[in-house]
Amino acid sequence: MLRRRLTINGIVQGVGFRPFIYSLARDIGLVGSVYNTSDGVKVELQGSLSQLEQFDARLRSEAPPLSTIISVKLEEIPILEDSEFTIVTSHDNASVSTLISPDVALCDECKDELFDEHNRRYRYPFINCTNCGPRYTIIENIPYDRRFTSMKHFPLCEVCHTEYQDPADRRFHAQPNACPECGPQVWLTDQKGERIDSRDSISKTIDLLVGGKILAIKGLGGFHLAVDATNADAIARLRLVKGRDEKPLALMVRGIDTAQELVDFNQEERATLLSIQAPIVLCTSKANAKIASNIAPGNDRLGVMLPYTPLHHLLLSEKLDTLVMTSANFSEEPICIDNDESLDRLSGLADYFLLHNRDIYLRSDDSVVMEMSGTIRPIRRSRGFAPRPIFMQNKGPSVLAVGGELKNVVGLSKDEKVFLSQHIGDLENLEAFEFFQMTIDHIQQIFEIEPELIIHDLHPEYLSTKWAKDQSIPLLGVQHHHAHLAACMAENNLDGPVIGIIMDGTGYGTDGTIWGGEFLLGDANGFERMAHFEPMPLPGGEAAIKSPWRIGLSYLHQVFDSNLPDSPALKDRDIQPIIQMLDANINSPLTSSCGRLFDAVAALSGGRQEIRYEAQAAIEFMQVAQNELGKDYSIFAPTLTDGKYIIPIKSVLENLLSRIDTGRNVSQLSQWFHNSLIHTFVRICEELRSEKGIEKIVLSGGVFQNRLLFEGLLAGLAQKGFSTFTHQQVPCNDGGLALGQVAIGLKYLQK
Ligand code: ZN
Ligand code: ZN
Ligand code: FE
Repeated sequence: MLRRRLTINGIVQGVGFRPFIYSLARDIGLVGSVYNTSDGVKVELQGSLSQLEQFDARLRSEAPPLSTIISVKLEEIPILEDSEFTIVTSHDNASVSTLISPDVALCDECKDELFDEHNRRYRYPFINCTNCGPRYTIIENIPYDRRFTSMKHFPLCEVCHTEYQDPADRRFHAQPNACPECGPQVWLTDQKGERIDSRDSISKTIDLLVGGKILAIKGLGGFHLAVDATNADAIARLRLVKGRDEKPLALMVRGIDTAQELVDFNQEERATLLSIQAPIVLCTSKANAKIASNIAPGNDRLGVMLPYTPLHHLLLSEKLDTLVMTSANFSEEPICIDNDESLDRLSGLADYFLLHNRDIYLRSDDSVVMEMSGTIRPIRRSRGFAPRPIFMQNKGPSVLAVGGELKNVVGLSKDEKVFLSQHIGDLENLEAFEFFQMTIDHIQQIFEIEPELIIHDLHPEYLSTKWAKDQSIPLLGVQHHHAHLAACMAENNLDGPVIGIIMDGTGYGTDGTIWGGEFLLGDANGFERMAHFEPMPLPGGEAAIKSPWRIGLSYLHQVFDSNLPDSPALKDRDIQPIIQMLDANINSPLTSSCGRLFDAVAALSGGRQEIRYEAQAAIEFMQVAQNELGKDYSIFAPTLTDGKYIIPIKSVLENLLSRIDTGRNVSQLSQWFHNSLIHTFVRICEELRSEKGIEKIVLSGGVFQNRLLFEGLLAGLAQKGFSTFTHQQVPCNDGGLALGQVAIGLKYLQK
């Protein structure tokens, strides 16, 4: 007979962990107890060695779906006179210093109850249990307890209370537990907030959607704007009011079978669609899918997700198979979360509002992922994932990383954990900036973190940088692409130094120019810029990004000066004002950006001349290659200048123009360009390897969302014997910057 005490840390509170321990111990015939303490969940177990070993084996393999066990500490303690296993309810101060679960999709058991006429929660849109439902978005404070969530306004009825207190029940200590008697309700209003009388507001909502109306629907992490995905007129109207011309819209489909009618997916993509995180998965669309053609015009991918709240399941259970479900906001503003706010901000956007009275404390957009090279990779890491931490190799002090400007995400570290916020978005409007500040306050509060250092981007004009400089905490400015490199190293637990191929849109360089096509050598301690694209002027600065043809013109002008070659793409353009701007060097910052080179080459090849959403030219240029690299390529042989390899743009343009002259079409040009970049990048890595003896390569920066380049480069590097490391926990775009900033900040404090 032995008695042991286990101290378990991780996501072990509010996720059905104690009931699980209780039934596991009883099942094995162990006696003892389980209780929460400030250093984790403690389990005292008494029984034979073989029983204890059985418990250890099953602890991890059978743990509840929302839990994450990070560590288990084991001590032998004296035997007691226990005769059964009990759950000792927490004393008030026994807040587990622990992790908070993300919000996750409705579980199968709750779904069965939702559609069971005899269940007391039949068609109740807020059904949940310890294995599913809202978490992070309803938490106001810690400990995670109903009185500190937005469920505090709904006292449990007797039946719910009994479930809540019964260790054998699926709803034992399920903080958001509710039923039609005691819980939140939905109702429908018109644009003015006047209630629409209806016996069943959900059925009425379905009828309105079928009738082509735009509905603002309050969900888990915010409002969606929804329309019937087969109704092209409704979608056109939605695009108009939302200020979103061509950017693809996400779909929510009834189930995996409906998804299969719309898109192709492999095993991993299927499992991801069905996962408890239920993100939007970017899949290849099928020809003849029965949806309107203006959902993702000119794009061969569709963003698809499955219903993840009970309300979604109800909306998609009868007349509708597929809904467009897009964040309810105008253009790039943050997603709407509050009832009054929504009526105010969305009244011109939606025809009707399906509201409810469970408040959302923290907005969280739908996450977006994409499979590349056999791995599911985040494009936007938000609902379902935040605030699950990324784990670092070592414990360190607490630091705050404020991210970049676009796709902002902030990060806070504590011990060996980095908590990355949900997607905050583009910090270019007041709403987003307020959301940014609120998120920082909130994460500091719920994880009890007081940072010793704030890490910000070097760009002096980023709102995140300006905010950081207003705080009275020591600061560290970090170069944008160095943060990308460190982010990829951190999530792969790599020690340096490595070669980072950082292909990006824009980032402020240490020399005051805009970088974005970089080969960096280094680690979280520091870096050296080893190679980059030749810097080119960007006439009109950031404004040029909307007009790829201007970038094409600028690059041609810079390389060929007054002998500007004929380019079919520029034939009917009024090019003089731009040339004057370039000649006078007015507002034409220099950039080595790979994203801008893509814009220039795409435009000159006959691709997109003007874009309606970020990276549209590059995305369409990649897709026109039909996933083929072809055989034709050039190597843009770098020149060695001041110890750095410079990739000459002249070589890119001369090779491109000669191919245009010989009648290559845009598809062939795209294949050639991708193939050439891959060969050029591999060549540079070989040079750097022979010079520095470094084999490890990390790939980061938003350009690596380009599947053709990413997969081709991985294959090319593997062929030459390099070890490559890529992102799979955080996005390769600026949504992953904060992780790198944290890693650099921690190293800085160590020194
Ligand atoms: Zn459930
Ligand atoms: Zn109830
Ligand atoms: Fe970036």
